[in-house]
Amino acid sequence: MEEIYLDNAATTKPLGEAVDAMLPYMKDLYGNPSSVYSLARRSKRALDEARDACAKEIHANSSEVYFTSGGSESDNWALTSAFCAYKDRGNRIITTAIEHPAILNTCRILEKEGAEIVYLPVDSLGRVDPEDAEKAMTDKTILVSVMTANNEVGTIEPIREIGAIAHRHGAIFHTDAVQAYGHIPIDVEKDNIDLLSASGHKFHGPKGCGIFYIKNGVRIGSFVHGGAQERGRRAGTENVASIVGMGAAASFMSKHREDFAGKEAGLRDYAMERLENEIDGVAILGDRRMRLPQNIDILIDGVEGESLLIMLDQRGICASSGSACSSGSLDPSHVLLAMGIPEEKAYGALRLTMSFMTTKKEIDLAIDAIRECVVQLRA
Ligand SMILES: *Cc1c(COP(=O)(O)O)cnc(C)c1O
Repeated sequence: MEEIYLDNAATTKPLGEAVDAMLPYMKDLYGNPSSVYSLARRSKRALDEARDACAKEIHANSSEVYFTSGGSESDNWALTSAFCAYKDRGNRIITTAIEHPAILNTCRILEKEGAEIVYLPVDSLGRVDPEDAEKAMTDKTILVSVMTANNEVGTIEPIREIGAIAHRHGAIFHTDAVQAYGHIPIDVEKDNIDLLSASGHKFHGPKGCGIFYIKNGVRIGSFVHGGAQERGRRAGTENVASIVGMGAAASFMSKHREDFAGKEAGLRDYAMERLENEIDGVAILGDRRMRLPQNIDILIDGVEGESLLIMLDQRGICASSGSACSSGSLDPSHVLLAMGIPEEKAYGALRLTMSFMTTKKEIDLAIDAIRECVVQLRA
């Protein structure tokens, strides 16, 4: 059975172009980029090219892009190092209630170290109100961190406005762009971004490889200490092959992003309409307009999301629910709870996330399957 893969928010299929670009660096071109001979210089040159490609996608300078082990490390780096670097100015960090655990759990640690964290609320569509950010600013605020787009409900946040507010109050602005990078346009200059996190495997590159953007002039220290790699800001021998693959994916997505987004948004709207019309008790989650093109997220009345996922899996459909498994007990999604969805309803979430590889036929098959499974589950 061919799988229908609709869980691209969890990870994406690596591009053939990315894998092909990686292979030589996993085999014969294994030189350490910090060494001096020509084998090493091949690796160094490959890193430079990947850095250019990754920077270009967000209109950054190559000198502002650092390679990490993924989105989680970049998020940890942003919060932890900003807290350290700006201790003399204050201890207040403003973020949102709907961030990824890489942000939220780092905040919990920093709270123990004396940080004062403000979790901005969201409305019923998952949108942060810039007014709330404005009201939360004090002269002790050192950092504002708001995700570019949410990984569960797909809502795109007004980061440009919030970044401007942060700057007006002398704070730096970080955004977790892991779901957005390579999928929607980002311009670090226009969007008022000082620090940004992205992850290779969320835009058809390899896993375990990420991007951290630090705007030139922003004072922030290293997070992984050791050697002088990444201009002394991130130690550890570079993951050359993965970085090369991520660079290939970044340049591919830069070239095709607009076309892909247009196609995905069309499929997304078609799917949401079919789901609403053909299944009773379906509500669309998240903002319909300010929404990632690849994201479909719904709440189905009287259906337990986890049971539906198991049935869909038996039919070869890979999807996800809004809830995260934690230590054997199923917790309802903190994102849906923050949007004011009652706990008992939040278990009925179903997230379908597409890629440019997704076809209308796959969407039709998936929706037919969902409709049939919902009937069975309700019987
Ligand atoms: C996937 C994801 C992360 C974590 O990225 P990894 O590369 O898997 O560590 C962080 N933030 C968001 C919004 C994500 O979707």
